[in-house]
Amino acid sequence: MALDLFSLEGSVAVVTGGSRGIGEAIAVAMADAGAAVVPVARSEDALDATVTRIRENGGEAVACVCDVTDEGDIERVFETAEAEFGPVDTLVNNAGTNPFFGDATDLDTETWEQIMDVNATGTFRCTRAFATRVAERDGEGSVTNVGSVGSVVGLPAQAPYTASKHAIAGMTKTLAADWAPDVRVNTIAPGYVVTEFTEGVRANDEIRADLLDDIPADRFAEPEEIAGTAVYLASDAAGYVTGEVHVVDGGLAAV
Ligand code: NAP
Repeated sequence: MALDLFSLEGSVAVVTGGSRGIGEAIAVAMADAGAAVVPVARSEDALDATVTRIRENGGEAVACVCDVTDEGDIERVFETAEAEFGPVDTLVNNAGTNPFFGDATDLDTETWEQIMDVNATGTFRCTRAFATRVAERDGEGSVTNVGSVGSVVGLPAQAPYTASKHAIAGMTKTLAADWAPDVRVNTIAPGYVVTEFTEGVRANDEIRADLLDDIPADRFAEPEEIAGTAVYLASDAAGYVTGEVHVVDGGLAAV
């Protein structure tokens, strides 16, 4: 049956930033599609809530506390996943941060580096650890990064975030070519999604109205509307898809 192509049955997935928002929705959707999932983040309580949700749906999951800026933590994630479920087939690099909104002349170097460290270098660290393991077992796998519409267009007042997300798009294209056909590498580029991340901009009436003016869909996305693309990109249905930056933005970047 055609839908079998989208099944993740028998696979193992690590989802960074899997404790809330988009990452939580991806972790739940991948588990619903049959994957054993290891959600990863810094806060243990929130991760446990994701694991409980997955198990209540009949899925398999084990949480692993990890800061994506810490290479020792990342090693422990893959060791935990392998010990619990076996070799990891899919890595979803979703952990991200955006503490700065303003003019770049007001941005200090430390904040720039912090954003790059989590969003771009964190994605690289996790991807390297994953791909090394896939190569050691002479296997196959897929990496799905959660970039942003800011991976393909500039976002006003978000210079460091946009730079970090463009870095992810560049990494995606090069690593996809370098590692084909063994490891597929793709990026999802969401527009504005209803999560804690966008609470500030959504709460400001003026910014909210300006943003909605630019979004043909005339609304923000729900996290579940990003998760389906993550299931697809990890599945056999996307077996010939690599190096792709897949925009899910209600038409924002199209106009
Ligand atoms: P969110 O609700 O703030 O969730 C962020 C997740 O990342 C949390 O699970 C957080 O958990 C984790 N995280 C943050 N720093 C981390 C670190 N150093 N190490 C490990 N985990 C870390 O944000 P979201 O909206 O779901 O965003 C998820 C991803 O989508 C981000 O990469 C973001 O850039 C991207 N995105 C979001 C939107 C949007 O409109 N919301 C649009 C485009 C792209 P802990 O704090 O417990 O570590």
